[in-house]
Amino acid sequence: MAPHVLVLGGTTEARRLAAALTALPGVRVTTSLAGRVARPGAVPGDVRVGGFGGAAGLAAWLREHAVDALVDATHPFAEAITANAARAAAGTGVPAVVLRRPGWRPGPGDDWHTVPSLDAAAEVLPRLGRRVLLTTGRLGLAAFAGLTDLHFVVRSVDPPGPPLPPDTEVVLARGPFTLADERALLRAHRIDVLVTKDSGGEATAAKLTAARERALPVVVVRRPPLPPGLTALSDVAAVLDRLGLGGAGHPAP
Ligand code: NAP
Repeated sequence: MAPHVLVLGGTTEARRLAAALTALPGVRVTTSLAGRVARPGAVPGDVRVGGFGGAAGLAAWLREHAVDALVDATHPFAEAITANAARAAAGTGVPAVVLRRPGWRPGPGDDWHTVPSLDAAAEVLPRLGRRVLLTTGRLGLAAFAGLTDLHFVVRSVDPPGPPLPPDTEVVLARGPFTLADERALLRAHRIDVLVTKDSGGEATAAKLTAARERALPVVVVRRPPLPPGLTALSDVAAVLDRLGLGGAGHPAP
């Protein structure tokens, strides 16, 4: 029977992996989306939407749908689903691997302030600037709600909900963003400090270059560690190899 791969998605990498898997003869792929984004982009292969109901629910889904391999290709900061993937894989014996883009690294001229959490980012911000570009997503912004003296420009795909800082402007946009986009945004809003998660990847990296050009401080929220038992691979070809699908019978696209 065709091997069935479940991809936990919601990222560009997950879409690329689904495209690579669907191009292989005799492989069935289902991508799972949380259902947070109102209009997710098209995903090749089968798609299911919504939570599984914790690790036990995911384990039940793996059994019920005869899944042969699980790939967690969720965002590096989607901590709960990754923990569930580790537990469900251990409980069912379904082999699991994580597809995770590498984190960003500071270069010469960067003024990065690396912090462990959004709360810690909020703590350092008042020392670094007054006009903040916040690109950490629409969730967790309560951490910044008490910063009443700062002006925030929050960029997110969907509108953020309260509580938000009182002086907040929302810019709705979905990456990828070009360097020209980012230069224009920083200039138009007279941004003097940037806050980002260490998401990694090309699609949203231009803001870091734009910040460097303007010598702006950047608060970078560090990634949470992977749960024990999961290994991260950084590209689609490595995942296909690990699944035994990148060899001669199944040439990697
Ligand atoms: P999370 O905190 O790790 O997950 C919370 C709950 O949402 C999980 O326990 C699970 O519910 C459900 N869930 C998350 N991802 C799922 C998936 N791919 N398929 C089915 N259920 C899923 O996740 P999050 O940070 O809210 O992220 C949600 C989604 O957005 C992920 O797919 C992630 O790749 C994407 N995303 C996240 C970020 C970010 O910064 N966190 C950025 C870009 C994209 P149950 O326990 O009921 O199964």
